Amino acid sequence: MSRDQWAAIQHGDESYAGSPSWAIFLDAVRNLFPFDFVIPTHQGRAAERILFSIISDPSKTIPSNTHFDTTRANIEFTGARAVDLVIAEGKDPKSRHPFKGNIDVVALKKLIHDVGRENIPVVMLTITNNSGGGQPVSLQNIRETRKVCDEFQIPLFIDSCRFAENAWFIKQRESGQQDREVADIVREIASLADGMTMSAKKDPLGNIGGWLACNDKELANKARTMLILTEGFPTYGGLAGRDLEALAVGLSEAVSHDYLKYRIASTTYLGEALAAMGIPVVLPIGGHAVYIDARELLPQVPPLQYPGESVAVALYELGGVRGTEIGTVMFGLQPDGTEIPASNDLVRLAIPRRTYTQSHVDYVIEVCEKLKEVAKDLGGYRITSEPTSLRHFTATFEPLN
Ligand SMILES: *Cc1c(COP(=O)(O)O)cnc(C)c1O
Repeated sequence: MSRDQWAAIQHGDESYAGSPSWAIFLDAVRNLFPFDFVIPTHQGRAAERILFSIISDPSKTIPSNTHFDTTRANIEFTGARAVDLVIAEGKDPKSRHPFKGNIDVVALKKLIHDVGRENIPVVMLTITNNSGGGQPVSLQNIRETRKVCDEFQIPLFIDSCRFAENAWFIKQRESGQQDREVADIVREIASLADGMTMSAKKDPLGNIGGWLACNDKELANKARTMLILTEGFPTYGGLAGRDLEALAVGLSEAVSHDYLKYRIASTTYLGEALAAMGIPVVLPIGGHAVYIDARELLPQVPPLQYPGESVAVALYELGGVRGTEIGTVMFGLQPDGTEIPASNDLVRLAIPRRTYTQSHVDYVIEVCEKLKEVAKDLGGYRITSEPTSLRHFTATFEPLN
Protein backbone atom coordinates (compact mmCIF):
# COMPACT_ATOMS: atom_id res chain seq x y z
CA MET A 1 0.00 0.00 0.00
CA SER A 2 1.05 3.58 -0.52
CA ARG A 3 2.32 6.06 2.07
CA ASP A 4 -1.07 7.78 1.97
CA GLN A 5 -2.90 4.52 2.54
CA TRP A 6 -0.77 3.74 5.60
CA ALA A 7 -1.41 7.25 6.84
CA ALA A 8 -5.16 6.72 6.38
CA ILE A 9 -4.91 3.58 8.53
CA GLN A 10 -4.06 5.82 11.49
CA HIS A 11 -7.41 7.56 11.04
CA GLY A 12 -9.39 4.32 11.34
CA ASP A 13 -12.31 4.63 13.74
CA GLU A 14 -13.23 1.29 15.26
CA SER A 15 -16.70 2.18 16.62
CA TYR A 16 -19.04 -0.76 16.17
CA ALA A 17 -21.74 1.45 14.64
CA GLY A 18 -21.62 4.92 13.12
CA SER A 19 -17.89 4.86 12.39
CA PRO A 20 -16.82 7.83 10.24
CA SER A 21 -14.48 5.42 8.43
CA TRP A 22 -17.57 3.76 6.96
CA ALA A 23 -18.81 7.07 5.54
CA ILE A 24 -15.40 7.77 3.97
CA PHE A 25 -15.32 4.29 2.43
CA LEU A 26 -18.90 4.51 1.16
CA ASP A 27 -18.25 7.89 -0.50
CA ALA A 28 -15.14 6.53 -2.22
CA VAL A 29 -16.95 3.44 -3.53
CA ARG A 30 -19.97 5.43 -4.72
CA ASN A 31 -17.78 8.04 -6.40
CA LEU A 32 -16.77 5.33 -8.89
CA PHE A 33 -19.66 2.87 -8.55
CA PRO A 34 -22.80 4.88 -7.80
CA PHE A 35 -25.00 1.96 -6.73
CA ASP A 36 -27.75 2.60 -4.17
CA PHE A 37 -26.66 -0.10 -1.74
CA VAL A 38 -23.10 -1.08 -0.78
CA ILE A 39 -22.48 -4.07 1.47
CA PRO A 40 -18.91 -4.38 2.75
CA THR A 41 -17.37 -7.85 3.09
CA HIS A 42 -13.99 -9.22 4.17
CA GLN A 43 -13.15 -10.49 0.65
CA GLY A 44 -14.64 -10.90 -2.80
CA ARG A 45 -15.71 -14.47 -2.21
CA ALA A 46 -17.80 -13.41 0.80
CA ALA A 47 -19.71 -11.04 -1.50
CA GLU A 48 -20.14 -13.94 -3.95
CA ARG A 49 -21.30 -16.29 -1.22
CA ILE A 50 -23.91 -13.79 -0.01
CA LEU A 51 -25.15 -12.96 -3.51
CA PHE A 52 -25.52 -16.54 -4.73
CA SER A 53 -27.00 -17.82 -1.48
CA ILE A 54 -29.88 -15.41 -2.21
CA ILE A 55 -30.41 -15.61 -5.98
CA SER A 56 -29.19 -19.10 -6.88
CA ASP A 57 -30.47 -22.68 -6.45
CA PRO A 58 -30.21 -26.00 -8.34
CA SER A 59 -32.69 -24.87 -11.03
CA LYS A 60 -30.49 -21.91 -12.04
CA THR A 61 -27.86 -21.31 -14.71
CA ILE A 62 -25.46 -18.37 -14.38
CA PRO A 63 -23.49 -17.22 -17.44
CA SER A 64 -20.34 -15.11 -17.48
CA ASN A 65 -17.50 -14.36 -19.88
CA THR A 66 -15.41 -16.58 -17.57
CA HIS A 67 -16.27 -17.18 -13.93
CA PHE A 68 -13.37 -16.72 -11.55
CA ASP A 69 -12.63 -19.92 -9.58
CA THR A 70 -14.25 -18.74 -6.32
CA THR A 71 -17.27 -17.39 -8.25
CA ARG A 72 -17.79 -20.69 -10.03
CA ALA A 73 -17.38 -22.63 -6.77
CA ASN A 74 -19.88 -20.43 -4.92
CA ILE A 75 -22.40 -20.88 -7.74
CA GLU A 76 -21.89 -24.64 -7.88
CA PHE A 77 -22.15 -24.81 -4.08
CA THR A 78 -25.80 -23.71 -4.44
CA GLY A 79 -26.38 -26.52 -6.98
CA ALA A 80 -26.59 -24.13 -9.94
CA ARG A 81 -24.68 -24.38 -13.22
CA ALA A 82 -21.91 -21.86 -14.00
CA VAL A 83 -21.40 -21.33 -17.74
CA ASP A 84 -18.43 -19.59 -19.41
CA LEU A 85 -19.22 -17.86 -22.72
CA VAL A 86 -16.03 -15.98 -23.59
CA ILE A 87 -15.52 -15.24 -27.33
CA ALA A 88 -13.54 -17.85 -29.31
CA GLU A 89 -10.49 -15.54 -29.51
CA GLY A 90 -10.46 -15.50 -25.68
CA LYS A 91 -9.63 -19.21 -25.62
CA ASP A 92 -6.84 -18.94 -28.18
CA PRO A 93 -3.64 -17.89 -26.38
CA LYS A 94 -2.14 -16.67 -29.68
CA SER A 95 -4.98 -14.42 -30.84
CA ARG A 96 -4.07 -10.72 -30.61
CA HIS A 97 -7.70 -9.58 -30.31
CA PRO A 98 -7.66 -6.38 -28.17
CA PHE A 99 -10.61 -7.45 -25.98
CA LYS A 100 -10.24 -11.17 -25.43
CA GLY A 101 -12.33 -10.95 -22.26
CA ASN A 102 -15.52 -10.17 -24.24
CA ILE A 103 -18.55 -12.38 -23.74
CA ASP A 104 -20.05 -14.03 -26.84
CA VAL A 105 -23.35 -12.16 -27.02
CA VAL A 106 -24.85 -14.56 -29.59
CA ALA A 107 -24.05 -17.54 -27.36
CA LEU A 108 -25.53 -15.66 -24.41
CA LYS A 109 -28.83 -15.15 -26.26
CA LYS A 110 -28.88 -18.80 -27.29
CA LEU A 111 -28.33 -19.89 -23.68
CA ILE A 112 -31.20 -17.69 -22.51
CA HIS A 113 -33.47 -19.21 -25.18
CA ASP A 114 -32.35 -22.74 -24.29
CA VAL A 115 -32.76 -22.62 -20.50
CA GLY A 116 -35.41 -19.87 -20.20
CA ARG A 117 -34.91 -16.38 -18.81
CA GLU A 118 -36.64 -17.32 -15.52
CA ASN A 119 -33.79 -19.75 -14.80
CA ILE A 120 -31.06 -17.13 -15.19
CA PRO A 121 -31.05 -14.90 -12.10
CA VAL A 122 -28.07 -12.83 -13.24
CA VAL A 123 -25.54 -12.41 -16.05
CA MET A 124 -21.98 -11.84 -14.79
CA LEU A 125 -19.06 -10.12 -16.51
CA THR A 126 -15.57 -10.46 -15.03
CA ILE A 127 -13.41 -7.40 -15.74
CA THR A 128 -10.64 -8.04 -16.51
CA ASN A 129 -11.11 -11.72 -17.25
CA ASN A 130 -8.78 -13.12 -14.59
CA SER A 131 -9.05 -16.84 -15.40
CA GLY A 132 -8.91 -16.03 -19.12
CA GLY A 133 -5.50 -14.33 -19.12
CA GLY A 134 -6.28 -10.99 -17.44
CA GLN A 135 -7.85 -9.86 -20.72
CA PRO A 136 -10.13 -6.82 -20.87
CA VAL A 137 -13.79 -6.51 -21.84
CA SER A 138 -14.67 -3.64 -24.20
CA LEU A 139 -17.19 -0.95 -23.40
CA GLN A 140 -19.03 -1.92 -26.54
CA ASN A 141 -19.32 -5.52 -25.33
CA ILE A 142 -20.62 -4.36 -21.93
CA ARG A 143 -23.19 -2.17 -23.72
CA GLU A 144 -24.27 -5.10 -25.93
CA THR A 145 -24.56 -7.37 -22.90
CA ARG A 146 -26.69 -4.70 -21.21
CA LYS A 147 -28.99 -4.71 -24.24
CA VAL A 148 -29.46 -8.47 -24.05
CA CYS A 149 -30.13 -8.22 -20.30
CA ASP A 150 -32.70 -5.49 -20.94
CA GLU A 151 -34.39 -7.54 -23.65
CA PHE A 152 -34.83 -10.50 -21.30
CA GLN A 153 -35.10 -8.52 -18.05
CA ILE A 154 -32.13 -10.21 -16.41
CA PRO A 155 -29.86 -8.22 -14.05
CA LEU A 156 -26.23 -7.67 -15.06
CA PHE A 157 -23.57 -7.88 -12.35
CA ILE A 158 -19.91 -7.02 -12.83
CA ASP A 159 -17.16 -8.94 -11.04
CA SER A 160 -15.09 -5.77 -10.91
CA CYS A 161 -11.81 -6.83 -9.29
CA ARG A 162 -9.60 -5.31 -12.03
CA PHE A 163 -11.93 -2.49 -13.00
CA ALA A 164 -9.17 0.13 -13.26
CA GLU A 165 -6.90 -2.01 -15.44
CA ASN A 166 -9.89 -2.88 -17.64
CA ALA A 167 -10.81 0.81 -18.00
CA TRP A 168 -7.18 1.62 -18.81
CA PHE A 169 -7.23 -0.93 -21.66
CA ILE A 170 -10.48 0.61 -22.91
CA LYS A 171 -8.81 4.02 -22.91
CA GLN A 172 -5.78 2.62 -24.77
CA ARG A 173 -7.49 0.32 -27.25
CA GLU A 174 -11.14 1.19 -27.88
CA SER A 175 -11.91 3.76 -30.53
CA GLY A 176 -13.21 7.08 -29.25
CA GLN A 177 -12.08 6.47 -25.64
CA GLN A 178 -8.56 7.95 -25.76
CA ASP A 179 -9.39 11.35 -24.27
CA ARG A 180 -11.45 10.11 -21.33
CA GLU A 181 -10.45 9.88 -17.69
CA VAL A 182 -10.26 6.29 -16.43
CA ALA A 183 -12.57 7.25 -13.54
CA ASP A 184 -15.15 8.40 -16.05
CA ILE A 185 -14.96 5.12 -17.99
CA VAL A 186 -15.36 3.21 -14.70
CA ARG A 187 -18.50 5.21 -13.89
CA GLU A 188 -19.95 4.39 -17.28
CA ILE A 189 -19.27 0.67 -16.74
CA ALA A 190 -21.04 0.87 -13.37
CA SER A 191 -23.98 2.70 -14.95
CA LEU A 192 -24.45 -0.22 -17.36
CA ALA A 193 -24.75 -2.76 -14.53
CA ASP A 194 -27.34 -3.52 -11.87
CA GLY A 195 -24.77 -4.53 -9.31
CA MET A 196 -21.25 -5.69 -8.65
CA THR A 197 -19.01 -7.88 -6.57
CA MET A 198 -15.51 -6.75 -5.63
CA SER A 199 -12.34 -8.10 -4.12
CA ALA A 200 -10.66 -5.05 -2.60
CA LYS A 201 -7.38 -6.98 -2.55
CA LYS A 202 -7.16 -6.23 -6.28
CA ASP A 203 -7.61 -2.80 -7.89
CA PRO A 204 -8.82 -1.07 -4.69
CA LEU A 205 -5.19 -1.66 -3.64
CA GLY A 206 -6.00 -2.95 -0.16
CA ASN A 207 -4.64 -5.83 1.88
CA ILE A 208 -8.11 -7.13 2.62
CA GLY A 209 -11.72 -6.32 1.81
CA GLY A 210 -14.51 -6.50 -0.71
CA TRP A 211 -18.11 -5.56 -1.27
CA LEU A 212 -21.41 -6.38 -2.92
CA ALA A 213 -23.35 -3.46 -4.40
CA CYS A 214 -26.71 -3.22 -6.17
CA ASN A 215 -29.72 -1.02 -6.87
CA ASP A 216 -32.32 -3.60 -5.86
CA LYS A 217 -33.58 -2.79 -2.37
CA GLU A 218 -35.07 -6.21 -1.70
CA LEU A 219 -31.84 -7.95 -2.69
CA ALA A 220 -29.84 -5.51 -0.54
CA ASN A 221 -32.03 -6.20 2.48
CA LYS A 222 -31.62 -9.95 2.10
CA ALA A 223 -27.88 -9.52 1.60
CA ARG A 224 -27.60 -7.43 4.76
CA THR A 225 -29.31 -10.14 6.76
CA MET A 226 -26.83 -12.71 5.42
CA LEU A 227 -24.01 -10.26 6.10
CA ILE A 228 -24.94 -9.93 9.77
CA LEU A 229 -25.18 -13.72 10.00
CA THR A 230 -21.64 -14.39 8.77
CA GLU A 231 -19.58 -11.20 8.27
CA GLY A 232 -20.54 -8.37 10.63
CA PHE A 233 -22.61 -5.22 11.00
CA PRO A 234 -23.60 -3.51 7.69
CA THR A 235 -21.17 -0.62 8.24
CA TYR A 236 -18.03 -2.73 8.36
CA GLY A 237 -18.69 -6.25 7.04
CA GLY A 238 -15.71 -8.28 8.15
CA LEU A 239 -13.41 -5.27 8.07
CA ALA A 240 -11.79 -2.99 10.61
CA GLY A 241 -12.34 0.77 10.33
CA ARG A 242 -8.69 1.18 9.36
CA ASP A 243 -9.17 -1.17 6.39
CA LEU A 244 -12.10 0.93 5.17
CA GLU A 245 -9.91 4.06 5.32
CA ALA A 246 -7.05 2.42 3.38
CA LEU A 247 -9.46 1.24 0.69
CA ALA A 248 -10.97 4.71 0.27
CA VAL A 249 -7.50 6.08 -0.53
CA GLY A 250 -6.65 3.05 -2.69
CA LEU A 251 -9.72 3.57 -4.85
CA SER A 252 -8.63 7.08 -5.75
CA GLU A 253 -5.04 5.94 -6.46
CA ALA A 254 -6.14 3.01 -8.62
CA VAL A 255 -7.66 5.26 -11.29
CA SER A 256 -4.59 7.52 -11.47
CA HIS A 257 -3.18 7.42 -14.99
CA ASP A 258 0.43 7.49 -13.71
CA TYR A 259 -0.20 4.45 -11.54
CA LEU A 260 -1.94 2.52 -14.33
CA LYS A 261 0.76 3.34 -16.86
CA TYR A 262 3.42 2.00 -14.49
CA ARG A 263 1.31 -1.03 -13.67
CA ILE A 264 0.60 -2.15 -17.22
CA ALA A 265 4.16 -1.35 -18.33
CA SER A 266 5.57 -3.68 -15.63
CA THR A 267 3.38 -6.58 -16.69
CA THR A 268 4.10 -6.01 -20.38
CA TYR A 269 7.86 -5.88 -19.69
CA LEU A 270 7.83 -9.39 -18.20
CA GLY A 271 5.41 -10.78 -20.79
CA GLU A 272 7.25 -9.44 -23.84
CA ALA A 273 10.56 -10.79 -22.48
CA LEU A 274 9.12 -14.29 -22.15
CA ALA A 275 7.53 -14.10 -25.60
CA ALA A 276 10.88 -12.95 -27.08
CA MET A 277 12.73 -15.97 -25.65
CA GLY A 278 10.10 -18.30 -27.15
CA ILE A 279 8.08 -19.17 -24.06
CA PRO A 280 4.43 -19.36 -25.16
CA VAL A 281 2.37 -16.78 -23.26
CA VAL A 282 -1.18 -15.49 -23.60
CA LEU A 283 -1.10 -12.53 -26.00
CA PRO A 284 -1.56 -9.63 -25.87
CA ILE A 285 -0.12 -9.37 -22.35
CA GLY A 286 -2.95 -8.80 -19.86
CA GLY A 287 -3.33 -6.46 -16.90
CA HIS A 288 -2.14 -7.91 -13.62
CA ALA A 289 -0.32 -11.03 -14.74
CA VAL A 290 1.57 -12.91 -17.42
CA TYR A 291 0.09 -16.30 -18.32
CA ILE A 292 2.44 -19.04 -19.57
CA ASP A 293 0.77 -21.55 -21.90
CA ALA A 294 1.95 -24.72 -20.16
CA ARG A 295 0.08 -27.09 -22.47
CA GLU A 296 2.05 -25.71 -25.41
CA LEU A 297 5.35 -25.51 -23.51
CA LEU A 298 5.09 -29.14 -22.34
CA PRO A 299 3.49 -31.01 -25.28
CA GLN A 300 4.73 -34.29 -23.73
CA VAL A 301 2.42 -33.84 -20.69
CA PRO A 302 -1.28 -34.49 -21.41
CA PRO A 303 -3.82 -32.17 -19.73
CA LEU A 304 -4.94 -34.82 -17.23
CA GLN A 305 -1.33 -35.02 -16.03
CA TYR A 306 -1.44 -31.29 -15.28
CA PRO A 307 1.23 -29.50 -17.36
CA GLY A 308 0.41 -26.24 -15.53
CA GLU A 309 1.20 -27.80 -12.17
CA SER A 310 4.46 -29.17 -13.60
CA VAL A 311 5.54 -25.71 -14.81
CA ALA A 312 4.54 -24.11 -11.48
CA VAL A 313 6.63 -26.66 -9.55
CA ALA A 314 9.60 -26.20 -11.91
CA LEU A 315 9.53 -22.40 -11.51
CA TYR A 316 9.50 -22.76 -7.76
CA GLU A 317 12.30 -25.33 -7.71
CA LEU A 318 14.45 -23.41 -10.19
CA GLY A 319 14.18 -19.98 -8.65
CA GLY A 320 11.64 -19.75 -5.82
CA VAL A 321 9.17 -18.08 -8.19
CA ARG A 322 5.61 -18.79 -7.10
CA GLY A 323 2.95 -18.87 -9.81
CA THR A 324 -0.38 -20.64 -9.95
CA GLU A 325 -1.93 -23.16 -12.29
CA ILE A 326 -5.04 -21.92 -14.09
CA GLY A 327 -6.07 -25.02 -15.94
CA THR A 328 -7.21 -28.58 -15.46
CA VAL A 329 -6.43 -28.73 -11.74
CA MET A 330 -8.45 -25.54 -11.19
CA PHE A 331 -11.34 -26.21 -13.58
CA GLY A 332 -11.18 -29.85 -14.67
CA LEU A 333 -13.14 -31.45 -11.81
CA GLN A 334 -16.86 -31.45 -12.67
CA PRO A 335 -19.68 -31.24 -10.09
CA ASP A 336 -20.52 -34.91 -10.83
CA GLY A 337 -16.97 -35.99 -9.88
CA THR A 338 -15.70 -36.67 -13.41
CA GLU A 339 -12.63 -34.90 -14.77
CA ILE A 340 -12.15 -33.27 -18.18
CA PRO A 341 -9.34 -31.06 -19.53
CA ALA A 342 -9.91 -27.31 -19.03
CA SER A 343 -9.93 -25.19 -22.19
CA ASN A 344 -6.31 -24.20 -21.49
CA ASP A 345 -3.53 -25.11 -19.08
CA LEU A 346 -1.95 -21.83 -18.06
CA VAL A 347 0.41 -20.73 -15.29
CA ARG A 348 -0.35 -17.28 -13.96
CA LEU A 349 2.53 -15.09 -12.81
CA ALA A 350 0.50 -12.38 -11.03
CA ILE A 351 2.61 -9.35 -10.18
CA PRO A 352 1.99 -7.72 -6.79
CA ARG A 353 1.62 -4.00 -7.47
CA ARG A 354 4.18 -1.52 -6.14
CA THR A 355 6.40 -4.29 -4.80
CA TYR A 356 9.07 -5.18 -7.33
CA THR A 357 11.78 -3.22 -9.08
CA GLN A 358 12.89 -3.93 -12.62
CA SER A 359 15.79 -6.06 -11.27
CA HIS A 360 13.34 -8.35 -9.49
CA VAL A 361 11.48 -8.86 -12.74
CA ASP A 362 14.79 -9.44 -14.59
CA TYR A 363 15.48 -12.23 -12.08
CA VAL A 364 12.11 -13.82 -12.92
CA ILE A 365 13.05 -13.61 -16.60
CA GLU A 366 16.34 -15.43 -15.90
CA VAL A 367 14.47 -18.19 -14.04
CA CYS A 368 12.15 -18.53 -17.04
CA GLU A 369 15.21 -18.94 -19.30
CA LYS A 370 16.18 -21.95 -17.17
CA LEU A 371 12.60 -23.20 -17.33
CA LYS A 372 12.80 -23.16 -21.10
CA GLU A 373 16.00 -25.26 -21.05
CA VAL A 374 14.48 -27.98 -18.85
CA ALA A 375 10.92 -27.90 -20.29
CA LYS A 376 11.37 -30.91 -22.57
CA ASP A 377 12.38 -33.07 -19.59
CA LEU A 378 9.49 -32.13 -17.29
CA GLY A 379 6.90 -34.79 -16.53
CA GLY A 380 3.33 -34.86 -15.31
CA TYR A 381 1.73 -35.10 -11.88
CA ARG A 382 -0.92 -37.16 -10.15
CA ILE A 383 -3.26 -35.93 -7.41
CA THR A 384 -2.83 -37.86 -4.15
CA SER A 385 -5.60 -36.09 -2.20
CA GLU A 386 -8.19 -33.46 -3.00
CA PRO A 387 -11.25 -31.79 -1.47
CA THR A 388 -14.61 -31.84 -3.30
CA SER A 389 -14.58 -28.18 -4.30
CA LEU A 390 -11.86 -25.59 -5.15
CA ARG A 391 -9.38 -28.45 -5.12
CA HIS A 392 -6.44 -26.38 -6.40
CA PHE A 393 -6.14 -24.57 -3.06
CA THR A 394 -5.38 -27.69 -0.97
CA ALA A 395 -4.84 -30.73 -3.21
CA THR A 396 -1.57 -32.65 -2.86
CA PHE A 397 0.41 -34.05 -5.78
CA GLU A 398 3.12 -36.51 -6.64
CA PRO A 399 5.26 -36.62 -9.77
CA LEU A 400 4.54 -39.44 -12.20
CA ASN A 401 7.51 -41.69 -13.05
C1 LIG B 1 -9.69 -12.38 -6.47
C2 LIG B 1 -10.93 -12.47 -7.26
C3 LIG B 1 -12.14 -12.89 -6.67
C4 LIG B 1 -12.25 -13.35 -5.24
O1 LIG B 1 -11.85 -12.39 -4.32
P1 LIG B 1 -11.14 -12.75 -2.92
O2 LIG B 1 -10.97 -11.42 -2.28
O3 LIG B 1 -9.85 -13.44 -3.22
O4 LIG B 1 -12.09 -13.63 -2.17
C5 LIG B 1 -13.25 -12.92 -7.48
N1 LIG B 1 -13.21 -12.59 -8.77
C6 LIG B 1 -12.06 -12.18 -9.37
C7 LIG B 1 -12.07 -11.81 -10.82
C8 LIG B 1 -10.89 -12.10 -8.64
O5 LIG B 1 -9.76 -11.70 -9.24
